[in-house]
Amino acid sequence: MTEATLTQVGKISSFTPTIHYQVAMPQPENHLFEVVLHLSGWKLPVLDLKMPVWTPGSYLVREYAKHLQDFSASAGEQTLAWQKLSKNHWQVETGDRPDITVRYRIHANELSVRTNHLNATHGYFNGAAIFFRLPGLEQQPIQVAIAPPRSDWRVTTPLPAVPGQTNTFTATDFDTLVDSPFEIGCHQSHQFEVLGKSHELAIWGKGNADAAKMIPDIKKIIELEAELFGGLPYDKYIFLLHLASQNNGGLEHKFACSLIYSRFGFRDREKYERFMQLVAHEFFHLWNVKRIRPKALEVFDYDNENYTPSLWFCEGTTSYYDLAIPLRAGIYNDKTYLKNLSKEITRLQITPGRLVQPASESSFDAWIKLYRYDNNTNNSQISYYLKGELVSLLLDLSIREKHQNRRSLDDVMRLMWQQFGKDEIGFTPTQLKQVIESVAGTNLDDFFKSYVNGTEELPFDRYLEPFGLKLVAEDEESVPYIGMKLQAENGKDTIKFVEIDAPAQRAGIEPGDELLAIDGLKATANNLNDRLRDYQPGDAIEVTVFHQEELCTHTVTLAAPRPSRYQVVPVENPSPTQKQNYEGWLGSRC
Ligand SMILES: [Zn+2]
Repeated sequence: MTEATLTQVGKISSFTPTIHYQVAMPQPENHLFEVVLHLSGWKLPVLDLKMPVWTPGSYLVREYAKHLQDFSASAGEQTLAWQKLSKNHWQVETGDRPDITVRYRIHANELSVRTNHLNATHGYFNGAAIFFRLPGLEQQPIQVAIAPPRSDWRVTTPLPAVPGQTNTFTATDFDTLVDSPFEIGCHQSHQFEVLGKSHELAIWGKGNADAAKMIPDIKKIIELEAELFGGLPYDKYIFLLHLASQNNGGLEHKFACSLIYSRFGFRDREKYERFMQLVAHEFFHLWNVKRIRPKALEVFDYDNENYTPSLWFCEGTTSYYDLAIPLRAGIYNDKTYLKNLSKEITRLQITPGRLVQPASESSFDAWIKLYRYDNNTNNSQISYYLKGELVSLLLDLSIREKHQNRRSLDDVMRLMWQQFGKDEIGFTPTQLKQVIESVAGTNLDDFFKSYVNGTEELPFDRYLEPFGLKLVAEDEESVPYIGMKLQAENGKDTIKFVEIDAPAQRAGIEPGDELLAIDGLKATANNLNDRLRDYQPGDAIEVTVFHQEELCTHTVTLAAPRPSRYQVVPVENPSPTQKQNYEGWLGSRC
């Protein structure tokens, strides 16, 4: 913040203009939200308006201002002059006018939980991607009136309605406005109660989602997470579900979550269970990350990246619970749980970047790395979701073993809620470690040095053994190792990834090359493994590719097969203690 801005902020806090937005969508087919900002009681010669560059929960600068067009400002009949001071900063010359009107349009044609979408079937928006922040006035209440294009379109948002005014809502401050998505249209709306609190499942889009079947499972998830944290810290909560052809995902809010899921992903059992994991994940966030927040996210800076090394806890630990909660809810059994856990361990163990980037660094660099996948990503990075989830597994297992299941990671979550979440006091990495240590009853310097801030291999067996389990590495296919991954696209077989130091890389094969032949015979994404099975480790093969349209042949010396799958399996003849530990953790064995 500059000195000049500080003076302006100082003056602003001495008066309280009213802030009122109207959002209309007269022609939803053109994907344009028409926004009008009315300010009354304005007292300064200029008005600064800043569009957030990101939205909390999604750690990437998304430049929401790029969707803004047709900006104008006026006071009564008079047009006001304005200028842009930076990519997301508009400044209007208001003179001595107390009543200001600002108009602009927002193009909304990106269907995701963190962006805006408007078409003939509905409108959906996130506050950060449509509303201006008025520097210095973030604590002022903001009214939002929605003007739907048709009389049968309804409005669903976690914001409270203004009594007596149609489709008008109030946010107590700018953070609340940003944290409150809007769904406008003819969506389904299902109301239900859990622990005396109202809940709503709103569904937009066609597909095979069956609310009557889903709600009992969602209720169980709510009950279990409420039990874990000791109650529900809200009066009403909304699950906003978009059914679409792609883009599965979610975005957490304090009083709602936005979910997007495959429209036909609800009949197949495995897909349905994955959806329930998504529900468990986003709902868990209403505590972990929305209220239990790292210090760096205690006060959001909407203009810049907000750096924290703790996303491994915010996202990873939440991921650990999104696997555990459906098990506790009886949505799947321990066998399915261990199968899912095995898949996660496999994903970690086949990613070379796990030995390069610590979980804390992955968290810190989320802004430039996780959401910006390139062909070196798997060689140099590890997701803080994945690593954080498996670090949480080890922490939970070590606490449970030491205290015979009388303590667990649940106690860590409860304590974090009591000490930081309830009053929304940001925690530091040191405070987080201290809370975990206090529950574990042991010093975790080495653990954090090796697995959170370092890149040592996670020693799964050491932690699984007391629970009568072990990790088995499998190579199902006995394919000599070449170290490249292909994808068939547009009639070509393109090499998408070449593993660091793998035989393919040593021979000079690059991502982006088009695979043509092995030893003079056509090779494809589909038959590569089959072809390689005819060779032995140590064999030299001739791999022919197009590299930037140039025909090249490389001699690749194949290596011994690498494990392609890891499975958590029971040890033979578990001891009574191992059985007891297992049951305390996962319930009775199926
Ligand atoms: Zn998450």
